Amino acid sequence: MDAPTLRDPALVEAAITAGKPVTSAEASAFVRRVARHCKGPFRPYTAARAKTLLQALTQRIAKATTAAAAAATAGDEAPADRERDAAAGDTAALALLRRVKPTGQDGGEIRTALLTAQLLAVASLADVVLRQHCGADFNETILANPLDGEDHEYTCPRCQLTGTYRAPSILLAGV
Ligand SMILES: [Zn+2]
Repeated sequence: MDAPTLRDPALVEAAITAGKPVTSAEASAFVRRVARHCKGPFRPYTAARAKTLLQALTQRIAKATTAAAAAATAGDEAPADRERDAAAGDTAALALLRRVKPTGQDGGEIRTALLTAQLLAVASLADVVLRQHCGADFNETILANPLDGEDHEYTCPRCQLTGTYRAPSILLAGV
């Protein structure tokens, strides 16, 4: 025998969904099918970062508005609606952010305010602009802990960010 034999990913997924045992190599391959990286801790919301975020939003709104007009002209109603919705969400976020004075508060507060207002697309933009990117492989953390479907606390080994995550529920053969 050389390398451990893995079953087809679809079979492994079906087994996991059915609560049937898989090997640890299969469980590892299953978890790693989705790349997960630590986003790192939030940095302070300074005037410079606020400017970057507002500029990125303004550009996104312009792009979506142009795309909506082009789609409408071409008679593509569904894409036109999608772009209009995106522009409307970003415009609401822009209005919200303009009311928040950047005083060096935790950038996580900005993201929370966007999430509370249901502006999920802008919350991920805030992740990009306001976090100190870490990039550690989060799958390593998942695989180092029990695959029991429970919530686990973690500390990122690279940036020391702490939080909780829900482990996948995977039964391991012979454990
Ligand atoms: Zn990290």
